[in-house]
Amino acid sequence: MSAVTTGAAIDVKDLTVRFRSAKSSTLALDNVSMRVPEGGFTSIVGPSGCGKSTLLKVVAGLVKASEGTATLLGQVVTKPQQNVGFAFQRSALLQWRDVRKNILLQAEMRGMDRTVAGERADELIELTGLTGFENAMPHELSGGMQQRVALCRALLHRPPVLLMDEPFGALDALTREVLNAQLNRIWRETGTSVLLVTHSIAEAVFLSTRVEVMSARPGRLVRSFDIDLPRERDYVQVMADPKFGEYTRDIRQLLGAHDSH
Ligand code: ADP
Repeated sequence: MSAVTTGAAIDVKDLTVRFRSAKSSTLALDNVSMRVPEGGFTSIVGPSGCGKSTLLKVVAGLVKASEGTATLLGQVVTKPQQNVGFAFQRSALLQWRDVRKNILLQAEMRGMDRTVAGERADELIELTGLTGFENAMPHELSGGMQQRVALCRALLHRPPVLLMDEPFGALDALTREVLNAQLNRIWRETGTSVLLVTHSIAEAVFLSTRVEVMSARPGRLVRSFDIDLPRERDYVQVMADPKFGEYTRDIRQLLGAHDSH
């Protein structure tokens, strides 16, 4: 890895990704550039198949760039990254482990100090409102609670960067709002930089300091919005803020205009 000074947690430059097989070639991302400043929260919205997940995977070092670069914490990404947290749509909890042991899986995989990991797990359990459910098994939890456990596991090693791919996509609207408010609090309290992929425009605007709008495949960046709302966000207040309505309307119009093919 070569060192690059960017001042950004994530810096994606001129990224193109082509998937080739014997029969076909898919241009998934076409010359995309975006940054997540340190401590920033950037969301990517765009139609299905526009390359959002692929972009996250390039940042995580799981998919290689065909052209361009992804830089994570000042280092060009060339292999799978250890210092990021992941949260995906499916919580991927181990059914035979209780809540606390699912969270601590992260510590076991990383060989973290047990006492440090245990204390951190307890802090996160409290922060995400899971207190009292430490010994519950995954099948005893609602979908929202399962996602909270997955979020705790993603944050256990205090990753400076959190990558999230539709983590709340399978949840009902109200549960999603509650988890969005919690994620806002976690982001503020941990100072972690977040890159989130979501289909929900409202979720993107509510959570983010910046929203990147992408076009249908091949994924290109259409426009970036800096979200000028306070860092601490409350659903009722944010929804009532005229700026929230303007951002969501503008983004919806853009997506409508670019979603026609
Ligand atoms: P999104 O997350 O925006 O729905 P993806 O990043 O999952 O989009 O996919 C972008 C495009 O790249 C899609 O057409 C998808 O079929 C294709 N794609 C994704 N991963 C692979 C892969 N490993 N091999 C071949 N094509 C892929």
